[in-house]
Amino acid sequence: MIALADPPPSRTSTLPDYISPSAAKSYLACSLRFYFERVLQIKKATTPALHLGKSVHEALQAFHLARWRGTDDSPEVVAAAFEDSFIKLERNEGPVKWKEGEREKCRFAGLRVVAAYLDSPEAPTAKPRAVEVPLTEDIAGLCVPLTGTVDLVTDIFAPIDFKSAAAKPDPKHAVFDHEIQLVAYQLLLEKATGEKPPSLDLVFLVKTKVPQVIRVSSPPADSKRKDRVIRMIDTAVTSMSEGRFHPQPGMTCMSCQYRNECKRWPGNMPERRAA
Ligand code: SF4
Repeated sequence: MIALADPPPSRTSTLPDYISPSAAKSYLACSLRFYFERVLQIKKATTPALHLGKSVHEALQAFHLARWRGTDDSPEVVAAAFEDSFIKLERNEGPVKWKEGEREKCRFAGLRVVAAYLDSPEAPTAKPRAVEVPLTEDIAGLCVPLTGTVDLVTDIFAPIDFKSAAAKPDPKHAVFDHEIQLVAYQLLLEKATGEKPPSLDLVFLVKTKVPQVIRVSSPPADSKRKDRVIRMIDTAVTSMSEGRFHPQPGMTCMSCQYRNECKRWPGNMPERRAA
């Protein structure tokens, strides 16, 4: 049982071993939700949208790996990879919060969106440079290593991150929203290889009735854009190491699974009161 009356860690906490762009973004969106989810690791039922997104992601990974290895990447093999992930993730990372009849609808939506990707011009025809590549690098301006896994690096060295979405994205907002992740991948790839990517890309798999596959490209970051992202990540690292976790009410509360814990959070900050 988690004692929510206990205050978050004291300000003498040490730095994390490393930081990923997703952890930094999550912390900056709401530090208290980050605390419940990643520090206390309070388990919540998986949402259908998250389950579908992960299953689609694994099916695409199977396709890209097959293309990279030169093995069977037919639609049948990729659909089977989706079915397999759908069942395994439910068993290993569930339970999933299904409403009546929702499971099958979700399964068919996943198969449709995977098929749409394979049919789209976004599915690579050339052998990718890398698939699901984990990178950890020291980056100037960050006090801990930066780590991240790039979904796909194309033959022309463009990193791509795949996103499942319920509605068509607005391109400008999408780049702004995923700025930390996109620029972090550029920093990691440049440090690891010495090469500059030609673009930073997002591919959205939109689960509309007729699925859509939409690529949103942004130019590689210049030094100002990089500095901005490094500063954001550094703010997250130093703040979490100082034990700064507090509610940040806003749009994200609508979909937050920790609202009950948030309401019970007492806000104890004894070292501040003593100061
Ligand atoms: S309800 Fe809102 S403020 Fe509270 S933890 Fe969730 S996102 Fe943060």
